[in-house]
Amino acid sequence: MALRDKVRFITPYTPGEQPRESGIIKLNTNECPYPPSPEFARTMAQIPPESFRLYPDPNENELRDALSEVYGIPKERIYAGVGSDEVLALAFLTFFTGGGPLLFPDITYSFYPVWADLYQIPVRTVPLDEDFRIHAEDYCTQEDKAGIIIANPNAPTGLYAGLDLIERILQANPGIVVIVDEAYIDFGGESALPLIDKYDNLVVVRTCSKSRSLAGLRIGYAFGPQMLMDALWAVRNSFNSYTLNHASIVGGAAAVRDTAYLKQTCERIIATRERLAGELRAMGFTFPPSSANFIFAKHETVPGSEIFAALRERKIFVRRWDLPRIGDYLRITVGSDAETDALVAALREIIKEKGAEV
Ligand code: PMP
Repeated sequence: MALRDKVRFITPYTPGEQPRESGIIKLNTNECPYPPSPEFARTMAQIPPESFRLYPDPNENELRDALSEVYGIPKERIYAGVGSDEVLALAFLTFFTGGGPLLFPDITYSFYPVWADLYQIPVRTVPLDEDFRIHAEDYCTQEDKAGIIIANPNAPTGLYAGLDLIERILQANPGIVVIVDEAYIDFGGESALPLIDKYDNLVVVRTCSKSRSLAGLRIGYAFGPQMLMDALWAVRNSFNSYTLNHASIVGGAAAVRDTAYLKQTCERIIATRERLAGELRAMGFTFPPSSANFIFAKHETVPGSEIFAALRERKIFVRRWDLPRIGDYLRITVGSDAETDALVAALREIIKEKGAEV
């Protein structure tokens, strides 16, 4: 047997580009245009270098205490890890490898099929309707399932599904873990978090990367019944005892506690989102209503690939997937007001050049 045949090769997830050059308007990975909380900055500046001599707290107590206080959930029901990507990757391994297919929408976070492939979990994708909406009954089938994962608001559509839909799915699937990935929930919609007291099969996953402006620190967290969280910790501890580093634990706790700053940041982004939505509509774009910090938009006449390339020439990066159903859509992160002005001016120019009415 050749060496190659003994090695596991897998097609990985492709994250949005992180360009090194300056002067780019970066609206491609849903980062926050505003700085992290000043409380976070103060805390980070005060961490003595000496404290990095020791391994970090494997139980991440400071961060989990902060999450517990802010969200009113007992600490035993909170897990935290290196970005929600790592939390989700471990959750797939912990909850979804028991047999049967994992269900998720055909258009959703494109890391889900990659984790499924990594763990060889069979997948059944469930088509969203014409308007990119999720229908609860599609997930209420009697088949044997490994689990269900729904991003709410969904990515890359930005559409929020009501809690009644989430509850119907939870009720129809006792004994099957349902993960609700709430990476964007701070920008719109009601969280499924209060439902964890009512359903023993619900896990809610969140992140500090978007609304708390800490994509570079990598903090994600999960809430769920203690039995499921204990299982998640055991899998984590069979893989790496120290996933979050000391700075993330301490700085993350300070950021989580600064709820006033979070609220202020989200309000600014929502206001800019609504202004951008108005501008896009006036230029002939259509898009589902967004409850996230991005808009998933398609122009009525100009192909998405052309707009994407023309924006890139102007050093404006957005995200596009060359996939069925969504090839003409651009996922545009809501940036600062100045970035939005530059984006709108560029789009006007591009659409005019391509001969469409503006
Ligand atoms: N879930 C969804 C739906 C996302 O869009 C992202 C961001 N790419 C993540 C999870 C992961 O975010 P992070 O690992 O930065 O917490």
